[in-house]
Amino acid sequence: MSRRGFATRQVHEHARRDDGAPIATSRATPIYLTAGFEFGEYDDAAAHFGRGEGYAYTRIGNPTVDAVEHTLAALEGGSQALLLASGQAATTVALLGLLEAGQHIVASTHIYEGTRGLLRDNLTRLGITSTFVDDIDQLDAWDAAILPTTRVLFAESISNASNRLVDIPALAALARRHGITLVIDNTFATPYLLRPLELGADVVVHSASKFLAGHGSVLGGAIVDSGRLDTDSAPRLYPHLVAPGRGGAPSIIDRVGGDARIAYAREAVAPRFGPTPSPLNAFLIGQGIETLSLRVERQSANALAVAQWLEGRPEVVSVDYIGLPSHRDHALAARDLTAGYGSVFSFTLRGDAETARRFVEALEVFTHMTHLGDVRSLVLHPASTSHAALTEAERAALGVQAGTLRVSIGIEDVADLLEDLAQALTVASDVSVAVVA
Ligand SMILES: *Cc1c(COP(=O)(O)O)cnc(C)c1O
Repeated sequence: MSRRGFATRQVHEHARRDDGAPIATSRATPIYLTAGFEFGEYDDAAAHFGRGEGYAYTRIGNPTVDAVEHTLAALEGGSQALLLASGQAATTVALLGLLEAGQHIVASTHIYEGTRGLLRDNLTRLGITSTFVDDIDQLDAWDAAILPTTRVLFAESISNASNRLVDIPALAALARRHGITLVIDNTFATPYLLRPLELGADVVVHSASKFLAGHGSVLGGAIVDSGRLDTDSAPRLYPHLVAPGRGGAPSIIDRVGGDARIAYAREAVAPRFGPTPSPLNAFLIGQGIETLSLRVERQSANALAVAQWLEGRPEVVSVDYIGLPSHRDHALAARDLTAGYGSVFSFTLRGDAETARRFVEALEVFTHMTHLGDVRSLVLHPASTSHAALTEAERAALGVQAGTLRVSIGIEDVADLLEDLAQALTVASDVSVAVVA
């Protein structure tokens, strides 16, 4: 190519061996930071457009993204995964792949506020309505909320802010009885602690921005599917999966069987709405996943130690951590969580919002921010931030009071975390400080 002009060489010259192969095979996943891919032979283009073979455009597929999807499917015990630009994108794409106007979701009340807003405000405008179940441990309450138009049950494996759990095998049996889909947001538990698909759930969604990445550098999201679509009830409940393709092409279910849900999300939802992850972000999420078990193991051990310590402090009214026998869902957690109880939980200080402010301002090792699953310990005051738009009664129902703080415990030396909490508790509960302030 050296006989070409400078501008041409500037954009076309790659380091290649004489046979055209790349000059090196890297051990780590290469970052295919490219919008698109060259067609090798002329007919490869038609093969891609006709049969989906090979790579053409990163919104449709990218090897760096594929590598992370492959790993996530393997870790969740699923058949396939789909990586997206954020956790919100993952939940949105998963739900839009299952529901249409006139249909209905039954969701746990105990879910991420961004998800609640999506269901309550955005999907409602598209004609998809939701009923929220407060008593999530009452299977009858879930059953009673199911309508003929219900297509999805939605819950989190471990919830914010009060660490509620759902009985996934029981909910999965209920969903199966109605032929509908159980979607579990597994962000807080991660597949290292809990694998909803192995407990009978149909679809898992993740915010990969949290524990999967772990470094707090990027946003990402993922859908993982069990591959076990009920092909008997699908024609009645999910007709878009069985409808013939354009020009009489086979339906998605004819092409991929039990993988029809995720194939539809990959082919017909994600590329059209367009929340494609950057291959660079995919690479960074992949790097994070390689140490997931080590981080979550350490974070869970640290969190248990911190929660036990807080529970014994006179300045603390209550600690909502499923690893403590005092938590109402502890028995369920002991049954379903395999290697620890997670590291995001809330506790409530004796005092008011000012007590909480003094406590957060006094912390030195903990970082004050709205994120979780980071290797660093983080703290947030839900009543004035994530849950500020709710009424006091709604907050109380979710276990959020004026003195409630949410922590995400990191991988630091636990002695430093306890020392930091101890000095901040002393500052926060020192009434003379309050008077001066
Ligand atoms: C953060 C979070 C989300 C949203 O994920 P983003 O990556 O921030 O879009 C969804 N569910 C849960 C449980 C979360 O913690």
